Amino acid sequence: MVSRPTRLTPPLECVRLLDRDSGLDGVIAIHSTALGPGAGGCRFWSYPDLDHALADAVRLAEGMSYKNALAGLPLGGAKAVLRKPEGDFDRAALFRAFGRAVEHLGGLYVTAEDVGTSVADMQDVASATRHVAGLPPIEGRAGGDPSPWTARGVFEAMQAAARFTFDSDLAGLTVAVQGTGNVGAELCRRLADAGARLVIADPSPVRRDRLAAILGATVVGVDQIASAQAEIFAPCALGGALTPESVRQMKARLVCGAANNQLASPAVADLMMHRGIAYAPDYVVNAGGIISVSAEYLGEDESDVGGRVAEIAPRVAALLDRAVREGRSPAMLADEMAEEIIANAQRLAA
Ligand code: NAD
Repeated sequence: MVSRPTRLTPPLECVRLLDRDSGLDGVIAIHSTALGPGAGGCRFWSYPDLDHALADAVRLAEGMSYKNALAGLPLGGAKAVLRKPEGDFDRAALFRAFGRAVEHLGGLYVTAEDVGTSVADMQDVASATRHVAGLPPIEGRAGGDPSPWTARGVFEAMQAAARFTFDSDLAGLTVAVQGTGNVGAELCRRLADAGARLVIADPSPVRRDRLAAILGATVVGVDQIASAQAEIFAPCALGGALTPESVRQMKARLVCGAANNQLASPAVADLMMHRGIAYAPDYVVNAGGIISVSAEYLGEDESDVGGRVAEIAPRVAALLDRAVREGRSPAMLADEMAEEIIANAQRLAA
């Protein structure tokens, strides 16, 4: 059963997802459709209750609106957050039920992978709707797991931000990577190839320890990674890594990573500025995945994705430069730029 869209705070629409047979339980939050259909991945994670899932969806959907706007994509912002059932469940049936819910919205929302979901899950979703991306690619066309594109965008943004901050390339710098999942692991491989030293943390030992062995990375505890001795901190796990406490203890002079919603509160961006820590805003840096999703949904080629992902690094460099010149935080500047793009689209549509 999918409930009717319920208007929360304008312009946000929120759809409750509940299907007792499959265990589907969650929410789709649509923040904005001013630039196009609300697009954003589907997170599948354990939440203590629906309120926590809803809060995550709302924050993530807003971030997607800003990310898509600044990346120049013809997409609004939205996100699905599904609560992972406890005990045994039929995963394929759950994602088919989710697909039916997406279809019910008639193109208002386009989904794809996020934390906890895979290409196989999106194939199950696709059995019920065409408003899904992140499916196995057709030769030469955009598609597939978006996380390698995200990792490439983060890596190139980090190169540009390191040049700006340290006047140096990444060789010889130490990067502390929080989270060695799909994006974090690929970022680590690229960093190792570029000659960076790695410190990594992840509560899940499986990929973390293998990666550390292959790349010669140092492993630290999850509560030590934000204050690790490193030039760069790369949050690549869940949101909220940048808190007043973590920033006060941070030794890194640059933060650049893949995670969505890194700032626990807007004030943390100012705190970083006052501590002399350069911040490459999360949604500017991590747009590679949605660029791939967008191109796939619109039937474009892989070369279109490569071209747009290559624009992330200069965008980040320009933002850091302008922030220093104006004495403002890059996070606030990015928000203002994205809000202006969305407001202009709203005015044109009115
Ligand atoms: P993932 O689920 O593959 O990896 C997340 C990893 O973080 C897991 O290995 C998990 O064990 C680890 N983790 C959880 N809590 C941690 C903690 N406290 N400390 C250290 N590690 C912790 O997810 P992903 O696809 O790699 O995405 C990572 C982040 O990047 C998420 O915030 C996601 O929203 C964001 N992001 C991903 C994409 C993409 O294309 N996948 C695109 C844009 C943004």
